[in-house]
Amino acid sequence: MIIVHRFHIEPTKEQEQKLFETVTLCRRLYNAAFEQREICYRQKGRSPSCTSQKNEFPELKKELPEYKQVNVQVLQDCLQRLDDAFQRFFNGLAGYPHYKGRDYYRFFTYPQADKQDHFKRPGYIYLPKIGYVKIKAHFEFDPSKVSRINVKYHNGKWYVNLTSEIQEAGAIEIVNKVGIDVGLLTFAAISDGTKIDNPKYFRKSEKKLARLQRRLSRKKKGSNNRGKAKTKATRLHDKIANQRKDFLHKASYSIVQKYNLIAVENLSVKNMVKNRYLSKSIADASWGKFVDYLEYKCLKFGKVFVKVPPGGTSQTCVCGAHVPKDLSMRMHKCTKCGLVADRDVVSAMVILQRAA
Ligand SMILES: [Zn+2]
Repeated sequence: MIIVHRFHIEPTKEQEQKLFETVTLCRRLYNAAFEQREICYRQKGRSPSCTSQKNEFPELKKELPEYKQVNVQVLQDCLQRLDDAFQRFFNGLAGYPHYKGRDYYRFFTYPQADKQDHFKRPGYIYLPKIGYVKIKAHFEFDPSKVSRINVKYHNGKWYVNLTSEIQEAGAIEIVNKVGIDVGLLTFAAISDGTKIDNPKYFRKSEKKLARLQRRLSRKKKGSNNRGKAKTKATRLHDKIANQRKDFLHKASYSIVQKYNLIAVENLSVKNMVKNRYLSKSIADASWGKFVDYLEYKCLKFGKVFVKVPPGGTSQTCVCGAHVPKDLSMRMHKCTKCGLVADRDVVSAMVILQRAA
């Protein structure tokens, strides 16, 4: 199984300059190689192969000496990327390749990271031709397994995506499995019997936000006071959004750390409309994000993530019996097998069963 770890890196001013130059040179090479393929095809009826394009590097470096500052593997990867794009097109898997604009080509890759020791210095990653760059590795990973390093610029920050190959998913003995049910009263119920509650401060700040928004709607459009009220509401909204994000990250992280297989209901299909709570839309958004975070973290840590078919999980017992309950009934009591437990926890157990 292939897993990708993403870490934040902190280049110095000088290194960042080099990173930007590398990105630009890679993009130009990609576009030039693309153009060469098109021209050749028009003139001779066939385009040059990836290998023949790679063989032109010595020529290229003579003509454009700035390419000497870029690692050869990185340049080869640009041409490989173009060739892959054409192969995908020929196989009907993607559209015809096109020129890459400045905003869409903000990365480069060392495709054979295992050939060199990139992690000799603790706290740093060695990027050939760039230097030792500070890396914020917020969790342990096995540097000897890293086979590929992708450097990426996104939203004003630099990242590395480290690709490692680990043993097949089936080869990992899955002992710790868990099912998760998300709901209204409890944020999430877990099949091990625990629950994650919505932090109390959400409700407080959400009430405050609703009050601010009501006040805002009463202010005259274009007035000074409206502007002020709007800033206030926006600030609080951002604060709540950040708190939620933080909560969701921590909650998903703690689950992914504990378990090897995580099962959730396929939420997009689940009908969650029937509720009368004010914070419905916020809660909905949170569930979706929570599931996304779980999935992403499973990928990152090499865990197994399963989405099971939804429906009926709150009306079924793990023994298979039908146990109908309306929303007011918080306990699940099965007359067939005698199981008595919190209704949401039982739903989570049913979800886990569906994953097995
Ligand atoms: Zn039962």
